[in-house]
Amino acid sequence: MTGLFFSFDGIDGVGKSTQMELFCDWLRENGHDVVQCRDPGGTQLGETLREIILHQHDMPVCPASEMLLYMASRAQLVDEVIRPALAAGKTIVSDRFLVSNVAYQGHAGGVDVDAVWAVGAVATDGVRPDLTLLLDMPVEQAAARLNRDLDRMESRGAEFLNRVREGFLIEANKAADRIAMIDATRDIESIQADIRVVAGRAIDRRVGGSGDQPTT
Ligand code: ADP
Repeated sequence: MTGLFFSFDGIDGVGKSTQMELFCDWLRENGHDVVQCRDPGGTQLGETLREIILHQHDMPVCPASEMLLYMASRAQLVDEVIRPALAAGKTIVSDRFLVSNVAYQGHAGGVDVDAVWAVGAVATDGVRPDLTLLLDMPVEQAAARLNRDLDRMESRGAEFLNRVREGFLIEANKAADRIAMIDATRDIESIQADIRVVAGRAIDRRVGGSGDQPTT
């Protein structure tokens, strides 16, 4: 049986890293062989591209170039890490995935949203998360949690980040079966409890079904 693929998404400061660590602990306690990764990154090429994308503030990068750099990193991540791990029955948990590109460079950055999905289909060769945990909270509240130097995406200002947040919500509404919206304004334990409930359903569906039955 192929493994399960979860991703965490949302604007920076919503608690993705915090929740992802707790979630991976829970998966391991429940017998999953967990592979954690981050997108962009996770491979030699991906980490090199991540440095350019997020930390080379002085280098001009237009939205389309930015989108393609993310895609190149993701293609490598799928080929080197995600696809082999899924084939080996492991459970993948990724800090961000394709829907981030759709929200940041598409909805907020002005690149055609359908085009981002289409390039994404090429980059991922159709590999997509079984479930995306979308952590949602107001931009100002998320920014207040970040107590460090901001990277290229984080430093774009509230107006841009509000468009990103809105983009995530639009995509979650379009694919409610694959993108679970989680209210991230609450305490860490309550958020984690919700995550385990929705993820548990995805796991049960896999265990209960043959894997190729339609999920309702
Ligand atoms: P992200 O990975 O989405 O940027 P982090 O998990 O790094 O977010 O969390 C950002 C900051 O907010 C960290 O300092 C973290 O300890 C804190 N934090 C995370 N979740 C919560 C929460 N539910 N309530 C209050 N603070 C939180």
